[in-house]
Amino acid sequence: MKCPRCSREITVHEPRCAGCGFHIAELDALAVPPPKRRGLLNDFAGVIEPAWTDKLQTALETFRADAARVLPGVEIVIVTQKTTAPLTPQQYVFWLFNHWNIGGLRADENRGLLLLLALDERRVESEIGYGLEPFVSDRLTGEVLDHVVVPLLKEGSYGEAFHFGVKLLADIVLEGLRNLKTKGGKRKGHEKS
Ligand SMILES: [Zn+2]
Repeated sequence: MKCPRCSREITVHEPRCAGCGFHIAELDALAVPPPKRRGLLNDFAGVIEPAWTDKLQTALETFRADAARVLPGVEIVIVTQKTTAPLTPQQYVFWLFNHWNIGGLRADENRGLLLLLALDERRVESEIGYGLEPFVSDRLTGEVLDHVVVPLLKEGSYGEAFHFGVKLLADIVLEGLRNLKTKGGKRKGHEKS
């Protein structure tokens, strides 16, 4: 995870940033208790259209199941909030990622990606866990958000925006996982073809 103040890498095990001294507890002091997680789709703002809810839920579950064949615990989680105040959306997505243990808590896990929509702030933010960084970068995630998700959100198509975004991000991660499996399979002599 990146420090929300200076972007340096920090983890739940070294919660004080060596770069700027920022500590995760500073956000706890500002924010209300974190909301209770409802699984993969946490539409607290109630913006995902009913016609898209099941499709989006299925896409998130399918991705988790497909990824688990290679690497357990990999997940994409979505949260929508009317506002993230008093935190900024960037602080909030980082803070929530930690409190929800997205993709597992151990430092070699953290195999998750959290997507946040903050309605009042008109922002979409992402937090990628340490264990998922080999498969999807901040840059690629940013491109998917900027070029696919945000334009659809601006049209008011919330469900479609996230569904499309999740599909693209899932493909990127699964491609990375397949490469990992191929290499691992050859090394261990499990390659079938
Ligand atoms: Zn920092």
